[in-house]
Amino acid sequence: MSSTVTYYLEGYLTPDAKRHKPNTNAKSGSALGSALKKKSPPGPVYEKGIEYWDGVDASVNGVLGGYGEGPVPHIEQLSSRLLLLSLIPSLSPFANPLTPSPTLKPLPAHRRTVLDVGAGIGRVSRHVLLPLFDDVVLLEPVDKFVREGYRAASSGEWRDLPAQNGEDEEQNRRLDQQRNDIKGSKGRGKRVRFVKRGLQNLDPKYPVDEQAEEIGLVSSPKSEINGEGGCMEDEVLYDVIWCQWCLGHMNHEDLVNFLRKAKKALREGEDHYIFVKENCCDDAPGGVGQEFLDEEDSSLTRSHQKWVDCFIEAGLTVKREEIQQGMPDELFVVKT
Ligand code: SAH
Repeated sequence: MSSTVTYYLEGYLTPDAKRHKPNTNAKSGSALGSALKKKSPPGPVYEKGIEYWDGVDASVNGVLGGYGEGPVPHIEQLSSRLLLLSLIPSLSPFANPLTPSPTLKPLPAHRRTVLDVGAGIGRVSRHVLLPLFDDVVLLEPVDKFVREGYRAASSGEWRDLPAQNGEDEEQNRRLDQQRNDIKGSKGRGKRVRFVKRGLQNLDPKYPVDEQAEEIGLVSSPKSEINGEGGCMEDEVLYDVIWCQWCLGHMNHEDLVNFLRKAKKALREGEDHYIFVKENCCDDAPGGVGQEFLDEEDSSLTRSHQKWVDCFIEAGLTVKREEIQQGMPDELFVVKT
């Protein structure tokens, strides 16, 4: 069963720009004539979005709009991990209150694979996803972001991908730990496939298509990679698809198309979800969905109902909804 888990974050990037008042002319259901009604409200322009992010530092502070150096990333990343574990307790590598030992299932036969779209420098992959999954497909359209992620991961800065230089004590300690986990059937090596690509027209099963550029694979030593499937298959199937703070860059039609294809790219069976963690503004009166274009980064801020409308149109069911706690007041609500 494919399902969506939605977070919405209230308040996040560029709070001033994102708190602007609705453009009432663009609202659906207004008293405009029928010819005008057919005209869609202005949507995001993909090139403008890329241009905006291209001017931002390739750092956590950059991708988090200046909130990267305080508590926000820690709280936010921890909440995401807990949400993943509470929905998919079998992801836990050890027994804990959520997965007491008798229920801890053996590893599945396949390599557990997650897609991280609009991934920036790989902050979410590094701190939330890779600790729990075997393989990550990391997609990001901004060249300097995806290259910075690749650089950091391949130089041993990501805890779960130790560099294999044979000299650095700390890196060797991590490698040994990984080997022990594999021997104890707690792991099967980790890989991240870095791909430069935007979300428009993406079929997640084929992340490296003609619109994509493969940047590289960062992997545990070959001898430690085992299990079926995973990020290097001709057709990639995912346990989880993670979308955070990037879907605002998609117009309605492209978003719904992406979500439909994402649903088809999930593995069959239980425990497979699409997570959407995004900013969320208020609904229009009467609980009607609405969205506002932020001209600065050319992205849409959608209201709760607007998100739900997109999910329904894509044939998805909302399984869980959570508000991100601990976000600064001046930011939009963030929900997953
Ligand atoms: N998800 C990451 C990055 C958030 S910043 C995190 O939470 O840390 C927003 C990201 O959306 C940027 O990396 C930006 O390059 C990306 N983005 C912009 N336009 C996009 C598009 N058309 N398709 C996919 N991602 C896009």
